[in-house]
Amino acid sequence: MNYGNQLLQKLSKHKGGGKMSMKCITCDKQDTEHSKKLWQLHQKKKLCVFCNEDSSQHSERLWEIHEEVVPKNTKLAPMLLGRGPRVLAKIVKWNTVKTNGKDSPYHVEYVPIYMHCGECGTALGNAEEMLADVLEKTCLQCFCDMTEQEYKWYESPRV
Ligand SMILES: [Zn+2]
Ligand SMILES: [Zn+2]
Ligand SMILES: [Zn+2]
Repeated sequence: MNYGNQLLQKLSKHKGGGKMSMKCITCDKQDTEHSKKLWQLHQKKKLCVFCNEDSSQHSERLWEIHEEVVPKNTKLAPMLLGRGPRVLAKIVKWNTVKTNGKDSPYHVEYVPIYMHCGECGTALGNAEEMLADVLEKTCLQCFCDMTEQEYKWYESPRV
């Protein structure tokens, strides 16, 4: 009998298992497929303030980009453009000039927050905002110009 060997086998089994790999509750992938930061992001199951999608819809980079777009220390509220998509807006209050010595009531303005193309400055569309990490914060047109691709939306790069 070689108890030593058996013991060694048992030990190495445990050792071989190492750290249990965990499944992400957000994107269903193993923890090894995440960077440390992305993993933390996914475990919080946060909703993005900017696009209202949860963290699984973002790459690490996209999350950062969206975080940057949202102004700090500003009152924010979602607004609906007609029956269209929900966009994030900042609330701007302003006082109108005094009329007949009386203060006009506060005017509240919702200013939608868009991402703007780093190249041409146009407001990005919803799909472009969700691809900002791929498009490098440019609009699709500029991205195609830069990469000399034809402007075809359906052939756009996917994440
Ligand atoms: Zn995940
Ligand atoms: Zn987002
Ligand atoms: Zn552009």
